[in-house]
Amino acid sequence: MAVNIPLDYQPQPELLAGRVILITGATNGIGRAVALAAAAHGAQVIAHGRDKRKLAQLHDDIVAVGGLAPGLVQLDLKTAQGDQYQGLIEQVEANYGRLDGLLNNASILGELTPLEHYDIGRWQEVIHVNLNSTFILTRCLLPLLKQSDDAALLFTTSTVGHQGRAYWGAYAVSKFGVEGLFQVLAHEYEDNPRLRINCINPGATRTDMRQLAYPAEAADSLKTPDDLAPLYLYLLGPDSKAVRGQLITAPIR
Ligand code: NAP
Repeated sequence: MAVNIPLDYQPQPELLAGRVILITGATNGIGRAVALAAAAHGAQVIAHGRDKRKLAQLHDDIVAVGGLAPGLVQLDLKTAQGDQYQGLIEQVEANYGRLDGLLNNASILGELTPLEHYDIGRWQEVIHVNLNSTFILTRCLLPLLKQSDDAALLFTTSTVGHQGRAYWGAYAVSKFGVEGLFQVLAHEYEDNPRLRINCINPGATRTDMRQLAYPAEAADSLKTPDDLAPLYLYLLGPDSKAVRGQLITAPIR
């Protein structure tokens, strides 16, 4: 069942105080906006990215808005191996001893081309970054999330993740997979009142990924990542405690 939640949610200034929240793909686009907003609303953010320089910039930007200095996790999801995931768990455990939120946000677009022409290596890369690494990270971090009194686990999908569209190839298929992963896991934890699992479709948003997919589009007609941030804060914070197992579609601007 899909639910629509309005964009006009007004988060309290200290909405996420005391919560440790890990955001993947926090160095650009929607992930970056959510990381900044979560930190500005009191969260201890753990920001994941693949680029050290962009992570350092995010760190400085979070501190500049008065947020707690974020934890930084550098991990290329294309190449990361088991021991690096293990290192990530140990880093979160050692530094914070808890995890109250996980936003699985990082993704790549891959090619927009007919399946007949889709490069096989590229296909594997997109499925790995968007789906396999989402599963691996989630599996690694579930034990910590389960220790929280009120944990929010959020997956990210796309409209092409539930309605196949010509030429969207591995990206669309990976998002179908993410929705499947979300549904299976939400069902497994439906009776656990301390862990809620939801999936968000941000819809058309003014980011580099969108620009790559629609280079000729007038980007200023689209909502921005900052417009979306309140909805993400809602889903990561205590006000959405009753929202469980939902696919949430962000409203169009
Ligand atoms: P974006 O601006 O391209 O950001 C994607 C993020 O993922 C970046 O931080 C990027 O890191 C990170 N990432 C990519 N490959 C990685 C890898 N191998 N290892 C680690 N990190 C990696 O995209 P966005 O538009 O904000 O998208 C955010 C989420 O929303 C995605 O799941 C996307 O599928 C979904 N979505 C977006 C739209 C839209 O219109 N924008 C619509 C529907 C769904 P770098 O900063 O290093 O590039």
